[in-house]
Amino acid sequence: MEQFRQSDNFALLRVLLVEANEKDAQRLLDALRSGGHAINSRQAAGHPEVAEALKAEQWDVILLSTSLPDLPATEAVDLIGEQAADVPVVLTVERGSKTFPLELLEAGVSDFVFKSNPTRLLAVIERECVRVRLRREAGLVEPMLESQRRADLGQARFFQLATNTPECYWLVDAKTQRVTYVNKAYEQIWGRYVEALYADNQDWLRYVHDEDRDAFAEALKEFRQGGMDMQIRVQRPGDSVRWLHVRNFPVRDEEGKVISIGGVATDVTSQVAEQWKIPYFAHYDALTALPNQMMFYDRARQLIALAKRKRIPLGLMLVDIDRFREVNQTLGHISGDEMLRQVAGRLSGSLRESDVLGRLGGDVFAILLPDVANEEQAGIVARRIVDTLIMPIRVEGQDVFATASVGIAFFSRDGKDAHELVTNAEIAVAHAKANGRNNYLAYSADMHHGIRERLILETDLRNAALRKEFVLYYQPKASCANGHITGAEALLRWNSPRRGIVPPDQFIPLLEETGLIVTVGRWVLEEACRQLKAWQDEGIGLPSVSVNLSARQLQSDSLLTDIADTLASTGLKPGCLDLEITESMLMQNADTAIRTLSDLKKMGVTISLDDFGTGYSSLAYLKRFPIDAVKVDRSFVRDITADSDDASITRAVITMAHHLKLKVVAEGVETAAQLALLISHHCDIIQGYFFSRPLPADDLKSLLLADTRLPPNLLQSGTRYPMVLFVGVDGFDDVLDQLQRDGHRVCHVQYVDSAIQWLSGNLVDVLVCAAPSGHFDPLPVIEQAIATQPDCERILLADSKQWNRRSVARLSSGGLVQRVIHLPIESETLSQAVEEALGRRQISEEFSRLSHEVEVVERQLMRIEDERQRLEAENRELHAQETHARRLLQEVMAELPWPVLGVDECGILALINERALELLAARGIAPGVPLQELLPEVGDFSGICTLKAGNSTYTGHWRACDFGGNRIGHLLVLEEK
Ligand code: C2E
Ligand code: CA
Repeated sequence: MEQFRQSDNFALLRVLLVEANEKDAQRLLDALRSGGHAINSRQAAGHPEVAEALKAEQWDVILLSTSLPDLPATEAVDLIGEQAADVPVVLTVERGSKTFPLELLEAGVSDFVFKSNPTRLLAVIERECVRVRLRREAGLVEPMLESQRRADLGQARFFQLATNTPECYWLVDAKTQRVTYVNKAYEQIWGRYVEALYADNQDWLRYVHDEDRDAFAEALKEFRQGGMDMQIRVQRPGDSVRWLHVRNFPVRDEEGKVISIGGVATDVTSQVAEQWKIPYFAHYDALTALPNQMMFYDRARQLIALAKRKRIPLGLMLVDIDRFREVNQTLGHISGDEMLRQVAGRLSGSLRESDVLGRLGGDVFAILLPDVANEEQAGIVARRIVDTLIMPIRVEGQDVFATASVGIAFFSRDGKDAHELVTNAEIAVAHAKANGRNNYLAYSADMHHGIRERLILETDLRNAALRKEFVLYYQPKASCANGHITGAEALLRWNSPRRGIVPPDQFIPLLEETGLIVTVGRWVLEEACRQLKAWQDEGIGLPSVSVNLSARQLQSDSLLTDIADTLASTGLKPGCLDLEITESMLMQNADTAIRTLSDLKKMGVTISLDDFGTGYSSLAYLKRFPIDAVKVDRSFVRDITADSDDASITRAVITMAHHLKLKVVAEGVETAAQLALLISHHCDIIQGYFFSRPLPADDLKSLLLADTRLPPNLLQSGTRYPMVLFVGVDGFDDVLDQLQRDGHRVCHVQYVDSAIQWLSGNLVDVLVCAAPSGHFDPLPVIEQAIATQPDCERILLADSKQWNRRSVARLSSGGLVQRVIHLPIESETLSQAVEEALGRRQISEEFSRLSHEVEVVERQLMRIEDERQRLEAENRELHAQETHARRLLQEVMAELPWPVLGVDECGILALINERALELLAARGIAPGVPLQELLPEVGDFSGICTLKAGNSTYTGHWRACDFGGNRIGHLLVLEEK
């Protein structure tokens, strides 16, 4: 256990132990005493004793057991809330207790520790005491001054450094002063995402401490070309304050011209804290009350020295919370912090007392495991850690499921010092994540290869952008109504001289991480628009092109101008450009996203929601966003024919989307069976390998020139012939012939397997199955038809055999077939039955076609109505502004010492101030009268005029009045000569 340095504030600690078990109470007190505090404690277990203790004394902290026999913890929390609301409460939890007290954490208790391992307790209490004290005093420590040499780095060295250091580095364009690069450490130090800074250059100012903000903003202006060297405080979301040492310096090109300004911010909180003798800040992480990075490394050095001396093993484990970023983005920083706190508690509860747990920053925890010698032993701990997180974590009323990826390294096999061990454990974490997260891996030397590859890839990518090695492929989308190509999605490829054509999933994540995506994304947009316009000019009919946007692009404040400029420079109509964005991008900052999308829509471009179904929002929630289409993710389409759940989800999505007046595009359609099913579910558009893979521009052009379409046999009614499938039906050849003569398509198969195959590749309107017999069981065919083509009419023939009657009755009473025809029958009767079924199908197809058309019209009407309402609102606002402006004008005019007249655009007097009224009363001026008729000498609203009134002569000055860019009238100001 770490020793705290004693500070005045913590010399005496008054602890109320709400605890029934004597031994547990003792163990908790021992843990506290190890910090060098003098403890004043009292133990109470029942309602009256606790109430009495709360009344009798002032406590610094209350330790509340969650397993009191006579006092439920919720009741105790209420009692404390009533009598000592601002005293921090820390729960003490039995390891293995079945119900974890999630609701109490929500009800405002500060933290929890496990009784079996109270190593965090002291730090938790110190943190809470600091928090209470800070809240009371609201006093802050003055930053210390420390001069450091200024760095002058070349851009290349800068990037190298920036990627791998804990300092926050950034680059600002010398000319525009926009942030062009910031490394990941910004997120650690500022507690904000780098995207936020790219999107808004003022973002970092917002989190600078109130007292330092103005000075920092001033310094940013003053040292636009470098030379800043100052210390500021950052108030991170949540409540911790960090002290930063900030410097900036010019970055020059080869000719010595300053092209960028580099900046670096170093977190010096611990030095400051050291100076001010705040042991808590110096050694413990404020959020989780775990040893911080500095202290963890300190302990690692000690344990490594011990391991060396005594030749005992030592393991080091890194625990990285999976998708923590998403939690932060969807639920906010406060919830993210709460989640980390709870994870810290659970982790410490799953370790031995001799293990050292620390937080290295962000969502990364580290553990030193003395005596853990091999993967097997470490695996037991790692599994326990992964398991301990299985229970949901309740933050702000929501259950969040945390999973972790764990990397393990051993001294001295995988590293001779703490840094090397941590670095290698990090590599193992990266591999564990790549293996699908929520698991653990021990480091091995060959893992390095992947990391080196990544570095080379990053360098190559930077060059690729410069050498114009990116190309666009186009994947056509086809209409399910008529089979025609309705558009194409532009998909980025990297034509690398060394690697060949590289697919985007191998480089887009890196482009995003490095910020290059903004530049490359802009190129994609321009190239796609240019290409489509070129085809349209050649007379090749491709209605629209879709471009994928990345999160950074959507957040970039130049997106709107980029798109407007691209449309203007290429001459492409806005309606021909479709932008694809994903749901998670919308969630990152929903309000801003809604605004950006609305502005884009006003421009006339359309918006599609990509990868729909993979996130967690429902379509009803997405109603808030102004989108035109949803793209059902290919993971649903893939299993649509095999998995009836996926089929019904897809059907529900389609119905719901249509209800919301959205178009539905199905992605990743690879087989005729998938297409048939999607068409029968009324999907609007499909995209996928079945119709075409993504193609180079020239190949897509050929496809367009050849007027390639979806196969007509799969299309919706109206464009294909009706289809009847007979299965195992013998002796009715004349019926089959007749149907064919009548223009229907007929397929006759003998076996169940062939029928199922046929159903998977063709739309069938009427299915006729022979009577069940010893050799023939129609049930699988009927079930397949129901699952994949639910609208198909199903007819079953039946004979009079006893057992047959039973199975036929089962099929018909279960609603699996619509009609049973008992044999023997005349051909005519069967023919008639099939015709009737075809008729019903036709009517229902016609009905759905009409409903679909109605939906399309409704969609358009809704859009027109939206636009009308928007214009009306704009108009109302303008009107209100105008009225307001007029009123203001009148007030100002009344005060003016000169006579002033105002006329509207038609020359009718609209405004007359007091002085003008006095002066010109004799000439009969009044509002509503044409000015020219009363005062012809004032001329036609321009220049200077002369006017005689009473005994004086006046010079009149005409001024035009504009409002909101429109001319609203003129003012005539009269000045006595
Ligand atoms: P996405 O937006 O979901 O794009 C569809 C992906 O599905 C494409 O992969 C396409 O080739 C693939 N695909 C289409 N039909 C089928 C099919 O029938 N079966 C299967 N298995 N796959 C099919 P691609 O081209 O590798 O692109 C991957 C992702 O990279 C895209 O996913 C998109 O998120 C991203 N991406 C591609 N181009 C750009 C771009 O210009 N900008 C941005 N920001 N992202 C891009
Ligand atoms: Ca896409």
